[in-house]
Amino acid sequence: MAILPIVRLGHPALRRPAEPLALGRLGERPVRRLIDDMIATMRDAEGVGLAAPQVGMAIQLFVYEAVDEDEPGGGIPLRVVVNPMLEPIPGEMVYDWEGCLSIPDLRGLVPRHPAVRVRGLDRDGGPLDYVAEGFEARIVQHEFDHLNGVVFLDRMRDLQSLAYYEEWEEFLREAATRPSKARPE
Ligand SMILES: [Zn+2]
Repeated sequence: MAILPIVRLGHPALRRPAEPLALGRLGERPVRRLIDDMIATMRDAEGVGLAAPQVGMAIQLFVYEAVDEDEPGGGIPLRVVVNPMLEPIPGEMVYDWEGCLSIPDLRGLVPRHPAVRVRGLDRDGGPLDYVAEGFEARIVQHEFDHLNGVVFLDRMRDLQSLAYYEEWEEFLREAATRPSKARPE
């Protein structure tokens, strides 16, 4: 397994819509290796999710995992999601902090649907159909956005909460998130 370079904001790969992966290609060695490398890269970077465009590949594929059960929202097992479709479950938008491995050091408050139905394929081409809620729903929406050339900054309703990590830890971490009064997206 290899640690892949993660592209950062400004790289055109982050703004290019990803293409669906042909089912037959899922078993191919380069694709299996890409998935393994993306998992290794996400873990190495201590991220909770990574989408293929972040490693320069315009493929509808993302991985996520939040193993640290001491962290809020932790205890989410590894998922590999290919060719996803998301369907928001109706509910009030929820604001919480997000960061991105492609936008290092920044945090901001982002509104997301509280739950989403995820349909797609797993790494073996098997069907996926499940509902993600809470922090997992947030991760899924963030990664899905990457497949459409969208980053969390685009989703922020108010850039005033944008902060560097160090300042965020010092001043903002404990601050209450704003109550949601946003329209659904
Ligand atoms: Zn990201």
